[in-house]
Amino acid sequence: MNLCGCHAPKDEQQHFFAMDTVMTLRLIDASPEDFKACQEKVKELEQKFSVTLPESEISALNRAGSATLSADGAAVVEAGLTVSEQTEGAFCLSLYPAGRLWGFSGEEMRVPSAQELEAVRPLIGDEAITLSEKEITLPKGGAIDLGGIAKGYTADLLDLLLEERQVEHFFLSLGGNVQVGGGNPDGSPWRVGIADPDGGEAVGVLEIADGAVVTSGGYQRNFEQDGTLYHHILDPETLAPAKSGLKSATAVGLSGTLADALSTAFFVMGEERALDYCARYDAECILITEDDRVVVSPGLKEQFTLLNPQYRYEK
Ligand code: ADP
Ligand code: MG
Repeated sequence: MNLCGCHAPKDEQQHFFAMDTVMTLRLIDASPEDFKACQEKVKELEQKFSVTLPESEISALNRAGSATLSADGAAVVEAGLTVSEQTEGAFCLSLYPAGRLWGFSGEEMRVPSAQELEAVRPLIGDEAITLSEKEITLPKGGAIDLGGIAKGYTADLLDLLLEERQVEHFFLSLGGNVQVGGGNPDGSPWRVGIADPDGGEAVGVLEIADGAVVTSGGYQRNFEQDGTLYHHILDPETLAPAKSGLKSATAVGLSGTLADALSTAFFVMGEERALDYCARYDAECILITEDDRVVVSPGLKEQFTLLNPQYRYEK
């Protein structure tokens, strides 16, 4: 109890490394068991989804070409296939044979030759994946990678878990994937910073009580060769790092799974296609362009405030 006789909320954070990134759990009035349950859920999902753990169900699927997935595996693949269809292939689960050549999943990072990329092209395209309930079959030689969607699905399951455990207010950050719930205990919304792709002060802040704010950008994982920067989000059309005129793309919505897949897709699609998508499917985005403009979809304008004067924002 504090002086006014009211209860001051207990506000605690834990950081840990999982899914190849740093995760932060900030929980209000939670117990050590609540934190532990969240970390265990993340580890459990990592064991299923990782392409770098040979015993994961996705690694087993990629080796065998077909598998019976867990309920989580089937749910995340199904969500990915839907986004793939709705984004006309900008989001693509089956890019892994190309991703492996570029070395973005733990292999050595390098620029593959045009011949190497052409050789894997027939394996890429999600239409050739069949999923029926939990039974999945890939085209011969094909392989999938959940790197663009798995953290969002994980965030959704943590959101559910915290609700079950009656942790009302939380702010989770799973390496670029923010998932918040219940607003700030003082009754105001949470304030989520939108990172500066150039590494400076946050570009701006988004006020949101519940939901997911997920950012994808070429600045997150990349390497330089002969003066050119190569990053980890591939354009399925070229099989090379996407060049769509954006420094980053943020997707906002209630579902972490959807926001994660869409942030990757929007980064590939660029400003015009991403805004068209948002208008058509009632989605929301914040795009940062290479010429330092901030473009915010109509439904978010009241919630977004620009902070960094390097960027221009016309409301
Ligand atoms: P991060 O995981 O770094 O937060 P993203 O959510 O954008 O960023 O996911 C990028 C990852 O998704 C890549 O490392 C790769 O595993 C995979 N990926 C790359 N390009 C695509 C794409 N066009 N569609 C779907 N997944 C992709
Ligand atoms: Mg993503």
